[in-house]
Amino acid sequence: MQVEYIIVGFGLAGMAISKELEDHGHSFVVLDNASQVSSRVAAGVFNPVILKRFTPVWNADEQLEHLFPFYKDISKRLGGDYLTFFDTLKVFKSVEDQNNWFMACDNPLLEKYMDPKIIKTEKSGITHYEGFGKVNGTGRVLVTNVLDDYIEYLKEKEQFLEIPFVYNELEIQEDSVTYKDIKASRIIFAEGYGLKENPFFNYLPLTGTKGEMLFIKAPDLQLTEQIKSSLFVLPAGGHVYWVGATFNWTDKTLDPTEKGRKELLEKLDTMIEVPYEIVNQFGGIRPTVKDRRPLVGKHPKHQNLIVFNGMGTRGVMIAPTVSKQLYDYLENNQPLPKDISIERFENK
Ligand SMILES: Cc1cc2nc3c(=O)[nH]c(=O)nc-3n(C[C@H](O)[C@H](O)[C@H](O)COP(=O)(O)OP(=O)(O)OC[C@H]3O[C@@H](n4cnc5c(N)ncnc54)[C@H](O)[C@@H]3O)c2cc1C
Repeated sequence: MQVEYIIVGFGLAGMAISKELEDHGHSFVVLDNASQVSSRVAAGVFNPVILKRFTPVWNADEQLEHLFPFYKDISKRLGGDYLTFFDTLKVFKSVEDQNNWFMACDNPLLEKYMDPKIIKTEKSGITHYEGFGKVNGTGRVLVTNVLDDYIEYLKEKEQFLEIPFVYNELEIQEDSVTYKDIKASRIIFAEGYGLKENPFFNYLPLTGTKGEMLFIKAPDLQLTEQIKSSLFVLPAGGHVYWVGATFNWTDKTLDPTEKGRKELLEKLDTMIEVPYEIVNQFGGIRPTVKDRRPLVGKHPKHQNLIVFNGMGTRGVMIAPTVSKQLYDYLENNQPLPKDISIERFENK
């Protein structure tokens, strides 16, 4: 088989660059072995405001501008509907929280997303403190559905192989690469935390942050919004809610843990006042980077080896914009923005 690109990994990053290549008529094949699950356990939320600090998400405006046409295009291509919208309500625990909210509402980068009106109405089943603040422009992408449908679509076109990529079987030539019976001009690595096994790019400072989540069933909780306090509680349909997430910088396994469950339940019990049962618990490793920016670029020595990683805690928002930047860099000779280029780590 001869193609222009091999893509290793089909989470949000691999899907975004596949779409970009397909949009421009390039040939490619994807290899994925389901060894990482970050995209599949993600709630898929997009929210332009960091509610812990009331600061804007990095490049939020640009990312949202690309996000909607990106997922709508995919919906058109695959015939599914993968975008849902809802309000996000930030719980105010104190008057100081409210004052910080008002101050943030005056920030020109945040004013279009943050509603200055305090919502005093109680929410059935949610512990009432000092009211809520509403964030506009939030919603969720149904990540597992879109990945599954995209994989089926690629399989029908014989562009998707469910196999592990074995790094020492890659042969690198001057202007091409060969992997088993596939010859390509370039290979793009989008393995999420799996990058740690990649001998060409594992010098990059991908730290990885484990996150655990719960699905709970709570029939008396009648929410249509996402509620955000020390955790988020988000309707998943049929009285089921996502509850998440933990942040663990030392455990690099995918397994759900007792410690994770305990932490989630302790926090959840301060947020809701109705009975619930736990339906499921799961975990994944977010591909986070020391400086919280994506890792994109060509290998310093082998220019036909490319990395597309570091989506961190926000793959849903970041992948559509950064995949375009990567495409323009590879095919239109546009420079990569300095803050995402791996050249920032080359001297190290
Ligand atoms: C609990 C949790 C909640 C989250 N919630 C959100 C959220 O609400 N919103 C949001 O935007 N982000 C969220 N995230 C973060 C988001 O999941 C990540 O930013 C994003 O999914 C990373 O995508 P990726 O494609 O880089 O990596 P991954 O999704 O990990 O995909 C990498 C792919 O590469 C494959 N792979 C790896 N090595 C190999 C190999 N050698 N051969 C073949 N295939 C290989 C893996 O099987 C996998 O399919 C969350 C993450 C977690 C863990």
